[in-house]
Order: sequence, then C-alpha cells, then structure tokens
Amino acid sequence: MKYVFVTGGVLSSIGKGVTTASLALLFKSMGYNVTVIKIDPYLNVDAGTMNPYAHGEVFVTEDGGETDLDLGHYERFLNINLSRRNNITAGQIYYSVIMKERKGEYLGETVQVIPHVTNEIKQRIREVGKENGADIVFVEIGGTVGDIEGLPFLEASRQMKLEEGSDNVAFVHVALVPTLRTTGEQKTKPVQHSVQELRRIGIQPDLIVARCEKPLSIEAKQKIALYSNVPPEAVISNHDVSNIYEIPIILREQQAHRILAEKLKLDYREPDLAKWEEFLEKIRRASMEVKIAMIGKYTRLHDSYLSIVEALKHAGAYVGVKPSLVWLESTDIEAGTVDVEKVLINIDGALILPGFGKRGAEGKIKAIRYLRERNIPTLGICFGFQLMAVEFARNILGLTNANSTELDPSTPHPVIDLLPSQKEVNQVGGTMRLGAKYIKLFKDRRVYNIYGAEIVAERHRHRYGLNKKYIDLFESSGFLVSGVSLDEEVVEFMELKDHRFFIGTQAHPEFKSRPLAPSPIYVEFIKEASKSNKVR
Ligand code: GLN
Repeated sequence: MKYVFVTGGVLSSIGKGVTTASLALLFKSMGYNVTVIKIDPYLNVDAGTMNPYAHGEVFVTEDGGETDLDLGHYERFLNINLSRRNNITAGQIYYSVIMKERKGEYLGETVQVIPHVTNEIKQRIREVGKENGADIVFVEIGGTVGDIEGLPFLEASRQMKLEEGSDNVAFVHVALVPTLRTTGEQKTKPVQHSVQELRRIGIQPDLIVARCEKPLSIEAKQKIALYSNVPPEAVISNHDVSNIYEIPIILREQQAHRILAEKLKLDYREPDLAKWEEFLEKIRRASMEVKIAMIGKYTRLHDSYLSIVEALKHAGAYVGVKPSLVWLESTDIEAGTVDVEKVLINIDGALILPGFGKRGAEGKIKAIRYLRERNIPTLGICFGFQLMAVEFARNILGLTNANSTELDPSTPHPVIDLLPSQKEVNQVGGTMRLGAKYIKLFKDRRVYNIYGAEIVAERHRHRYGLNKKYIDLFESSGFLVSGVSLDEEVVEFMELKDHRFFIGTQAHPEFKSRPLAPSPIYVEFIKEASKSNKVR
C-alpha cells in the first residue's frame, strides 16, 4: 500500500480538499484503487456538534458519519461511498487512547503523544487503507503546518515514511501564493516559510501545489523549487478556475500524477478521464441561466450548503442549463429587512434549505407561502420540508399556530414532532437519525416517476418528522405523501397536487449527487425550474 499525505500552508480553506480529491481521481483514472482520509486536528469527536459557520456543512456518509465537508468532495470526484472511518479527528484519537489507558492496555507505561497518540493515528490510517483494499491511501491533514494541534498528525506521517519506506510514502504541500495588487507580482515567501516549517518537522515535500489567482509564473515556480528543494516541474500551479471540477485537468496537464507515480514507483498509465471531460463539456456548453433562490439561515457562508450547491451544478449540467444562485437570508425576511415578493418575483425555482432551531424559521415560512401560491418550483430539504408542512397546515388546513415542536413545544397543532425513536435519546453527539435509509415510494406519485424505482436509499440527519396523525388531513387537501421509510416510522417525501413542483423531503439527496450520477430529484427540480421563463 502507498500513502500520499497532503499538508497545507499559509492559510486554510484554499482548496486543499479539492486538490486532494483531484489527485486521487487522477490515480483512480489510472486504474488504481484509491481511498481518501481527512484528518481534522480538532478535539470534537465528529463535525456533528459544530455550527456550519465554523467549518461549513456537516457531510453525512452512507453509514451515518457526521463528517467534514471534504469527504463530500472526495465522494463526488471519485464517485465512491466513503465511511465515517475516513474522517479521523483528534477527538477520536485521544478518546481511543484514553479508553485503552483505562482498560489497562498500557499498564506500567507513561501514556504520551509520542508514541501512543502517534501509534493510534498510524494504526487508524493503515486500517482504513486495508478495509478499502486500497492501492493508494490519500491522507489530507486539515489546518496548516505550524498549528499546535496538527503536530501529532504530521509527526505520525513522518514516522510512516520511515516505517513504510521512502518509495511508499509521498508528501504533497498545498500553499497559497498571493499576488500583490499594486505590482501584480506573485509572492513566494509565505510558501518558502511553510515549507521550511515542514522540513523543520522532518518532512520534505515531493510535490508543491501553489494556489494562486493566475497561473504561476516561471520565476515564481523556480524560486519555490529552489527554496523547497524540489525540481521546478514538481511545483504545480493550481490557479483560480470558474469550476472546481476543472482542477483534475489542470493537474494532469502539469503531470502532477506522473511525478507522484515516479516517486511512489507505481506503473504509469494514462488517466482515462473521458466521462469526466464529457461532464465538463456539458457545464461549459450550458448557457441558459436558471435563477434559484437559496433560502436559509447560514447563507453568509455558502459552504454551509456545499453539497446542495454541488448537486444543483450536477443537475444543471445534466439538464443543460446554468443554475445561478440567489441567496436569501431567512433571518432578514423575518426581520422585515428583505421583501420576499421583490426577490422572488423573477425567480425560476427555490430551495428551502435544511437547518435547526427557531431563528429564521418564520422567514422561511413566509417565503414558502409565496412560492406555493405563485406556483414556483420549490424543493424543501429536511427542515425545509418540515416548514413546508407547517406553512400548509397553517394556511390551507386552517390549523392556527401549527408548528414543529422543535420551534414551539406547546403548539396546539404539532404537525412536525420528535420522532418516536428519538424520545429516549439524551445525548447530543451522533444520536440523530443518521445515514442512508431505505425509502418506499408510492407508485401513483410523481416522486416515484422521478426516481424510476420503488425502493431508494437516501441519507438523513434529523430528529423531527411529520406527525403521522395529520397525514389524512394533509392528503385530503392535496399535499400527498409520496414515500415513507421502509420501517414506516418516517414520512420521507411529500408532493403537492396541481403545483408545478412543490416537493419536500426529509432526506438529503444532495449527499449522494455526483457529477457522473446526479440526484434524480434535483434533476427534475432544475428541469421544471428551467421552464419558468415560458410559464411566466
Ligand atoms: N432540525 C430538523 C430536525 O432535527 C431538521 C434537520 C435538518 O434540516 N437537517 O429534524
């Protein structure tokens, strides 16, 4: 097994995840079996307990892991399912070491970062590689070189090179090369410093990926090469592009995969990216803009809804149109500083985004009413679906003050309520209804036709759901249940009769949407939204 460690320098959030996913895709396209691990040096056991403003969306894996959003990039680029085990946090490592200490597994020893913590890290990385039958394990180390909490992970990767042999471990360093606005010059000093910091820890990078606005100049490349002790061709320009899915092509053009293959003594094969390029061609060709309102509460950081944004891109490429997103902050609607009608009047479709808690919910409900009454295509995801039900209950079923008990525990009409299986839960971390669940779709409903299957599996992350006592009432007014979970606990899809597209789902179909396999429900939504111009 070969290992490629990807470290970051200068700044975080510069696209290390996309770079890692792109390199992994090149090797997958060469016929190698790859898997990718994301390491997050924070002490949370998983990303599930963090606010989206801290690290962006919480990505949910098939097996119910609440993980870092980079796993979403890996799954989308590689078109594979990963497990919760592909996201290692410092919290998990320390938890496990401390449990072992209590069990007496280190009896007599002083338990320390080196070797106990580093051994635990190395063991986890090797296990995940084995579990996946990987030829190459890509390991992205979160944060930037020099962070105190990242040190044990860097140290573990250094040791792995020693233990696995120099031919079996490669290091990629992704760092920012800023451009000075006044002179237009690309400054390499920050990269030089972060590489120095790496080498001080004992890691010599084999490949440097420079994140920059414009393609890296020859001078900058040579300077970085000299100071980093690598040949100039091992300094790769990863400049800004309009579409992240172009990155594998940019890296391939500069032969990043060939340099790594040589370093790792792997047979070189030409990467077969034919399908990928077909997808890119579709995105490039799509010219008609389809305006989608994105209505949510964490809209000031678009990464909060990353998988949804990507699912819309996949669907757009498939349909042949270009989704153009109009962000609408639900707390602003609620405060009355944004006029729903003014923003939504020219919209082609709207997404009611997932979320938690009271703040902004009434703003969403107001928008939903407008969208329903004006017959504008509307897709509600999870919390978005729940609020579609609340709006319908209040304004069509006449249930005054209907609500979700998450928002108003004493509502007279709890149309959304805590799931029965959640009633006994008293710990917060990792206890929601999580991961892929089978859904039974009803044959006479539109959602069944959209999926073209009776049983589908979508991923979940919630505690509340439609209160089944109200199903008959909803159905008698045309808001129909189109699918339920196989165990019948949860109403999974609802669709409004005689509306162009008013569909809500308790699931998160965006987590399974891929460039090469777009989500059916998102595709149908975009198809319908792209007709709005004609309908208006
Ligand atoms: N807050 C809602 C629940 O827990 C919805 C969660 C979500 O949108 N992911 O059921």
